[in-house]
Amino acid sequence: MATAKPLPGSLWAATAESFQAEPLRAHTRADVLIVGGGFTGLNCALQLAENGLDAVVVEANQVGYGGSGRNVGLANAGLWVQPEEVIESLGPDYGERLYQELAAAPERVYQTIARYGIECEADRVGTLQLARSRKGLAYLDERLQQLNARGAGVLLLDEKETQALTGSPYYRGAILDNSAGTIQPLGYVRGLARAASAAGARIYERSRVLKLDKAGANWIASTAHGSVTAPKVLIATNGYSGDLIPAIPTTTIPVNYFQFATAPLSPAQLRTILPQKHGCWDAELVMTSIRLDRAGRLIIGSVGRIEDGGDSSFLGNWAQCMLQKFYPELPKMPLDYRWSGQIAYSDDHIPHLHMLAPGMVTVVGYSGRGIGPGTVLGQWLAQYFLGTPIQELPLPISELKAIPLRKLRELYYARGSDLYHLSHRLF
Ligand SMILES: Cc1cc2nc3c(=O)[nH]c(=O)nc-3n(C[C@H](O)[C@H](O)[C@H](O)COP(=O)(O)OP(=O)(O)OC[C@H]3O[C@@H](n4cnc5c(N)ncnc54)[C@H](O)[C@@H]3O)c2cc1C
Repeated sequence: MATAKPLPGSLWAATAESFQAEPLRAHTRADVLIVGGGFTGLNCALQLAENGLDAVVVEANQVGYGGSGRNVGLANAGLWVQPEEVIESLGPDYGERLYQELAAAPERVYQTIARYGIECEADRVGTLQLARSRKGLAYLDERLQQLNARGAGVLLLDEKETQALTGSPYYRGAILDNSAGTIQPLGYVRGLARAASAAGARIYERSRVLKLDKAGANWIASTAHGSVTAPKVLIATNGYSGDLIPAIPTTTIPVNYFQFATAPLSPAQLRTILPQKHGCWDAELVMTSIRLDRAGRLIIGSVGRIEDGGDSSFLGNWAQCMLQKFYPELPKMPLDYRWSGQIAYSDDHIPHLHMLAPGMVTVVGYSGRGIGPGTVLGQWLAQYFLGTPIQELPLPISELKAIPLRKLRELYYARGSDLYHLSHRLF
């Protein structure tokens, strides 16, 4: 039987306010059972509890164990793919609705943080999508046209303006989105858990749902030491789905993303390196992100996996080398923290809503853009459980489809990014 896992060491785990809940040790009933304590499940639970429904969240490990406690913390608008790809995949009706909902996602995230007084280093200072090459610039230019045609109001910065905001001579341009910002993601998800508990939701940690059985109009979710009986269920397990419903993980490709955090920079260094604390990611095939935390640590990340106890020295070497390229004046900094997490890529890089059985829904495949979507869709799913017709949600119900050649594609991302990081000195 799978035992609960502690959240791996990370900068976020070292600095977030704590949240702890007991395991489920009883047979209980609920109006809605939520499996998984991340942004999606907890935003849903919070809204349900505030609207008088009895919501129970059952988390296999700890709140924030999944992507929600490990991510970069870029609270961005929209999705990672270009807006027109969203319209193409979903059609004009759902496509425009999803686009507009997610364009407003940073507002929803920061409003939620403010409303519940969540301590999570929330800085709505804007984010930068950076271009290193002419190809990257062309991509940003196209993205800017598509975003601004829909009223996003993002700005294209030239090389000099980009250098002023990043402190780095390495980039040729950037898109600046002033509606976005950064958060301490584990702080946010734990804050949601505290707010949901205060509103009356019951949260259980270290309680993996091992099976779901239908009993009349209800579902019975069994854990090692208890069970929850509820007529409605949200499966909010996303990239950490495991084998509870074996078809769910086959709909996404697991892609790992690692991060290193340096020792805090000096006040003098912080005057030039990301002086306004913008969160950044780039438009390269193998993405790199950089940002600061409140203590002034520089955090660099990219695609790849840091294995527990494994040798990730080549990724550490890559991180040091890139920091040198981005900031030639910066002396070699100790890397105090390292961690990684698993992203669930859907085939079209758009989240998918599935009706698994009567009364049981899931949303999966945020494809690396889950702070805004997890917040917005979690809150929408609560509306659905409260009686809003499912057709009013900004995502259509789609069929669960296994991704063809999934294992091969997983290997392609994993080995391709390893190769890229091993050969970084060439680029
Ligand atoms: C390294 C990394 C960097 C990222 N960077 C960003 C970023 O900068 N900006 C952004 O917007 N998005 C980012 N993302 C994506 C974002 O973090 C995720 O999309 C989001 O956290 C998903 O939230 P969730 O609540 O749907 O799922 P998760 O947070 O993954 O939660 C799922 C939970 O389900 C639990 N679970 C699984 N099975 C069971 C079971 N049988 N019983 C009970 N519980 C179970 C797991 O333990 C887990 O806690 C990143 C993701 C990663 C991994």
